[in-house]
Amino acid sequence: MATENYRIVRCPHCSNEFEAKFWSVVRGDIDIDLKELILNGEFNLLMCPHCEKIFKYEENFIYLDPSAEILAFVMPDYYEMREDLVEKLKEDYLSIKGHLSAEKKLNFEPYYLFGVEQLVKLLKNDTDIQEETDVIEFICFEKKLKTKKINKIKAREKDLPFILPYSESLKKGDLLELLNEIYSGNKRLKRIKNLMEEIESIEDEIDFLDED
Ligand SMILES: [Zn+2]
Repeated sequence: MATENYRIVRCPHCSNEFEAKFWSVVRGDIDIDLKELILNGEFNLLMCPHCEKIFKYEENFIYLDPSAEILAFVMPDYYEMREDLVEKLKEDYLSIKGHLSAEKKLNFEPYYLFGVEQLVKLLKNDTDIQEETDVIEFICFEKKLKTKKINKIKAREKDLPFILPYSESLKKGDLLELLNEIYSGNKRLKRIKNLMEEIESIEDEIDFLDED
């Protein structure tokens, strides 16, 4: 599924040129090997075929994982200083958005990331949230509680789990009581505490749930 591109690159060690392969789109849910390379910090590395030295070379790419609600434009980190380039990219995105939306559930806001390290941080943080979510899911199973999906973009932003446990109602008071009970038995679940704080601050409707 990944989209490949070729480009002539000059080796910073021996100054010879060679053709290198890049990926312009990486599907995080499908291109598992490429996702591994990203997580291992090897995605940006090129090996010169002339001197066999390895060096870092960054190119723009899109990281897409609809199931995780991630659409990320990953740019070289020096782009952070180049607002004009970022603006151009955002315009490009708007022009392809219609095409991308044809794919189910792709109506979420993109992330603009500078340097693949920011993507790694996001992915590792997601693993962290998922681990805590798995524990909460198990507790809900044991306590025969129901769950609703929390919007992943909001969960990342506010450091919440990916699910909201509930019993009968989604009323603020009932939710707080239930979450407090879960948290009292499992003080390590810091995202349950964050969830309580978040719900406490809500005026009317909960606005961070995904549709079932
Ligand atoms: Zn070289």
